[in-house]
Amino acid sequence: MPKKYAKGIIPLTPGFQDQVLTIIVPVYNEAQVIASFHERLETALDNTPVRRTEIIYINDGSKDSSMSILTRIVGNNVNVELIEFSRNFGKEAAMSAGLNLANGDAVIIIDADLQDPPELIPEMVRQWFQGYDVVNMRRSSRAGETFFKKKTARIFYWLIALLGPVKMPEDVGDFRLLSRRAVDALKQLPERNRFMKGLFAWVGFSVTEISYRRDPRFAGNTKWNYLGLFNLAVEGITSYTVTPLRFSSYLGLMVSVGVFGYGLFTFLKTLLYGDPVQGFPTLMLFILFLGGMQLLAIGIVGEYIGRIFMETKNRPLYIIKNHIDGTATSFSSAN
Ligand code: UDP
Ligand code: MG
Repeated sequence: MPKKYAKGIIPLTPGFQDQVLTIIVPVYNEAQVIASFHERLETALDNTPVRRTEIIYINDGSKDSSMSILTRIVGNNVNVELIEFSRNFGKEAAMSAGLNLANGDAVIIIDADLQDPPELIPEMVRQWFQGYDVVNMRRSSRAGETFFKKKTARIFYWLIALLGPVKMPEDVGDFRLLSRRAVDALKQLPERNRFMKGLFAWVGFSVTEISYRRDPRFAGNTKWNYLGLFNLAVEGITSYTVTPLRFSSYLGLMVSVGVFGYGLFTFLKTLLYGDPVQGFPTLMLFILFLGGMQLLAIGIVGEYIGRIFMETKNRPLYIIKNHIDGTATSFSSAN
């Protein structure tokens, strides 16, 4: 359980005041919120007892005016860096880029839409000072999300807990703090299919949790639709565990045993009562049932082969079009 501290009292371990904190913000079409977000973030960082902070915005191919707003922010602030992708590569790629470029002794990943309150950053840093390598942020409420989204999220966590090798913390999004050790461990994972939640859980280290109320979006729309979430769930499961493959083996075994039993039953029935040849519906049922199972099993195998194919291509996770460094651009307008 996370410990609670009275407001304003920060237990400082000697040496921690010298630390650098990096904030990673993936941005995709957030023109409506980015300015307010940056303001709240800067205020929160002013209250964070570290020597220096750097903010890395990753513009993930936004189609609105996010880029010009971000460029202005970089121009006015020495501590801000801006990466522009050549197109939309997805939030997972944006986070990976941020982790690769972060220089901090600790890194915090936060959404730009103000669903993750920046005001919690000082508390996260306090937990890190206590010696935790990972500070997960658990959503105690999911305001602004539909009943269906909450239910499907629950089913997903249940399924992944059932199948996966490492327990994935429930209701913990990408909002979290990672120490330098944890970031370096993550950077060693070579896979292209980056289901970050699974990877975060996989690297281990000492983990603590802070609960928070997740606000509804400040403005704009969620980038996820249900098909997208379903695909992310399949991706999550297949990149995280091979249990579904075993599941198809078990299924085959079970069906075989069942069919053997049924064969025995039919044989005995014929011996005892004679058999006026019958059973077209049963025949159809069995053929269709087996056909369905076979397609399912092939589909599962196919998912994994597809993933192997993508991994063997060894493509970069993202392409950077522009890298604007706050220190370079704001040199003349020093503030
Ligand atoms: N995001 C991104 N690339 C994408 C989709 C989203 O960088 O392709 C960013 C988005 O700008 C936001 C964060 O990821 O900062 C979370 O996205 P969103 O709010 O749509 O997800 P939700 O909160 O609904 O899970
Ligand atoms: Mg959001």
